[in-house]
Amino acid sequence: MINVPKGTKDVLPEQSYKWHYLEKIISEVTSLFCLKEIRTPTFEHTELFLRGVGDTTDIVNKEMYTFNDKGNRSMTLKPEGTAGVARSFIENGLFNGAMPLKMYYITPVFRYERPQAGRLREHHQFGVEIYGASGADMDAEVILIAHTLLKKAGLNVALNINSIGCPKCRKEYNEAFKQYLKGSYDKMCKVCQERYEKNPLRILDCKEEGCKLLCADAPKITDYLCDDCKEHFEGLKKHLSLAGLEYTVNPSIVRGLDYYTRTVFEFVTTDLGSQGTVCGGGRYDNLVGELGGPNLPCVGFGMGMERILMLMEAKGIEIPNNDVADLYLATIGDKAREKAFALCHELRLLGVRCEIDHMQRGIKPQFKYADKIGAKQVITIGDSELERGEVNLKNMLTREETCVKLNAREIASLILK
Ligand code: ATP
Ligand code: MG
Repeated sequence: MINVPKGTKDVLPEQSYKWHYLEKIISEVTSLFCLKEIRTPTFEHTELFLRGVGDTTDIVNKEMYTFNDKGNRSMTLKPEGTAGVARSFIENGLFNGAMPLKMYYITPVFRYERPQAGRLREHHQFGVEIYGASGADMDAEVILIAHTLLKKAGLNVALNINSIGCPKCRKEYNEAFKQYLKGSYDKMCKVCQERYEKNPLRILDCKEEGCKLLCADAPKITDYLCDDCKEHFEGLKKHLSLAGLEYTVNPSIVRGLDYYTRTVFEFVTTDLGSQGTVCGGGRYDNLVGELGGPNLPCVGFGMGMERILMLMEAKGIEIPNNDVADLYLATIGDKAREKAFALCHELRLLGVRCEIDHMQRGIKPQFKYADKIGAKQVITIGDSELERGEVNLKNMLTREETCVKLNAREIASLILK
């Protein structure tokens, strides 16, 4: 037997309504915030992620699904959503349109990770990308989008914010941080030793216990911000307060990706153990320029959809299941079967979610099946109903019965009322 690849998951027919529910609230929230959807390919030239995500990140160093295609070009399955959007934005000249450009995506994401609960090799992200606005009010709005969605899903999560400054002030911080770590170089993990030279800030994001300990008393980047970055960070806090959103400033949040500038944030929960980050994002003002486009500010986030669903489950949040039939047409005899086949199609065209027997079953097993699929109402058609041209519409919940003409319009108007 062939099994599903390690770290991937099927969404089975009985479970898919949960995804539909999450997608529905995503669609409601993105519409409220006037965001437009962008869809980009599942794979891109590997170079895009090397340049866009950065070669000191875990994602690029250890986690990418990279392969040569038959034309010997190096391709990579999306390890995150932002780089593809930036590529498309530049390639399609979207910077010539109205600004800000507010976009969202839903995408599969592929990372070669050690699979565990809440950590998959293929997961899905809902993400937001806003191009063209540099003010802290935009950062706050992006955070509000994520917060509104999490609220709609019924979740309470904590917001952590930080600023990692701009290349100018970060340089100063990196020097101070390196100075602080100087005597501990040998105690760092191999990856962090590399980061020490290339991108020391990344060390704050290391998951190794030893490195975490080393960082406990490190200087704080927020103490090194230049005036502009400081003002931006204060602006963010002000706008979060204007919207009544609580937050914690957490100087150890630097995010896993190289492209961030200034604002970084995470929504976290303690309910999922170490996989508690449900959403991470921030500002990346240099990404578009880095990828060969104009210098244009961006801010956004990525949210793990599996983690949201896991958390909803853990909290016992009931997800309404709308994948049920409005009506089941049970039949006795061949004539009734033919009538029901035609009627069922008519009813569907009138908007009734309708089901009939396709297994040549007797009446009892038909009722059983109707019950299993959660049909809300049932009609039984036999010879006498055909003769009378009338049927009883039975409500499966209240057991109440209503007599109705054996006619699609009459039945539909009763069910859809
Ligand atoms: P983590 O610290 O958990 O590894 P990350 O910093 O790598 O997360 P991002 O790149 O910011 O995560 O991705 C955005 C969101 O996607 C995360 O907050 C998380 O909810 C989700 N996510 C990331 N990696 C995985 C994964 N392997 N499996 C499931 N969800 C994931
Ligand atoms: Mg990760």
